[in-house]
Amino acid sequence: MLLNQQYLFTPGPTPIPERVKLAMNQPMIGHRGQAFAQLLEEVSTRLMPIFGSKDPVLVLTGSGTSALEAAAANIIEENDPVVVIVTGAFGERFATICETFGATVYRLTIPWGEICTPDQLENFLHAHKDCKAVFATYCETSTGVLNPIKELGAVTKRITDALFIVDGVSCIGAVPVDMAAWNIDILVSGSQKALMLPPGLAFIAVNHIARERIQSCSSKRFYLDLNRYFASYDKEKSTPFTPAVSLIAGALEVCYMIEEEGLEQVIQRHQLLKTMVREGIKALELPLLVSDEHASPTVTSVKPLNGKANQIKKTLQDKYSITIAGGQKKLKGEIFRIGHMGYCTPFDILKVLTGLEMTIHTIEGRNVLGQATKKAEEVWREYV
Ligand SMILES: *Cc1c(COP(=O)(O)O)cnc(C)c1O
Repeated sequence: MLLNQQYLFTPGPTPIPERVKLAMNQPMIGHRGQAFAQLLEEVSTRLMPIFGSKDPVLVLTGSGTSALEAAAANIIEENDPVVVIVTGAFGERFATICETFGATVYRLTIPWGEICTPDQLENFLHAHKDCKAVFATYCETSTGVLNPIKELGAVTKRITDALFIVDGVSCIGAVPVDMAAWNIDILVSGSQKALMLPPGLAFIAVNHIARERIQSCSSKRFYLDLNRYFASYDKEKSTPFTPAVSLIAGALEVCYMIEEEGLEQVIQRHQLLKTMVREGIKALELPLLVSDEHASPTVTSVKPLNGKANQIKKTLQDKYSITIAGGQKKLKGEIFRIGHMGYCTPFDILKVLTGLEMTIHTIEGRNVLGQATKKAEEVWREYV
């Protein structure tokens, strides 16, 4: 079979549009010249609506975790009490980063597969009114929940004076967000998820309140000192250190693509992809880890009853060149995850569901051919 076509359905990295690849192949430019200044300013300002930010979005060269680290390193001082909402592996990573920078971390631990409700946060914060920051994950990629960030932000500001810091790595560019209205002070994301780029860039949107805290924060940091990024951007629309210029050129093309489709339409498309995947999986009688109401539009976790998650994943890869993801940490071997964000169309969803139908037929001996795709097509038809 012609196997040069690989179908990538991991929740990062994600497929790259052809025109973004072309944009990344432009001749190299120096990052201290006028051409780069113009490029960076365009990217930083065109990302503002995508991040729901009133300020230009800073661009870091590093994976998404570099922006998580920057968010912590620039506001935490030794022994600062902070609250981290842990709904899965990425919430846990945020907590570990905070501990690394000397914070006293209070984890609000939620069972994996569930969201943190505003009530849960409220009860927890009553015991931690003096915390300096509350860290939350918008889409928890390890389980596929979408936390109610707007409501969590409102609770945070009602009870504390803490900064509200959000990891939006696996959903920004696919979901609504409004930093001012939702009380978000710092919002971070990465390039290789819904933003349709290769890995290697991180983005961080900072409001004026957080910026003041960053200026006065005495913690040690160098490469990720955001003050250097603000200074460089304000002075010459550049970055303090050599950036991944080609990826930034790609990021501008991504901004154009989102503008052309319309951000609202992009968000709607992800809702459609989510519903198609979920209805298709239900038609296969495979249990979903997360309820419809709390599920992310960017990634879907499936928990086969017989513990066959890894076998399904392997068969999809070996027989059909479809790459999906397994479970992380405590869900390892328990679930498989389908990423459907960024450069992903309804037809792509039919591909992965087709592979799943044939895989389930092979592994479980249940003839489910056509069942998931039929359901997904019905969902799509209703939408068009
Ligand atoms: C992917 C991801 C990250 C960052 O991961 P990197 O591998 O450093 O890019 C952080 N948080 C969430 C929620 C993610 O999905």
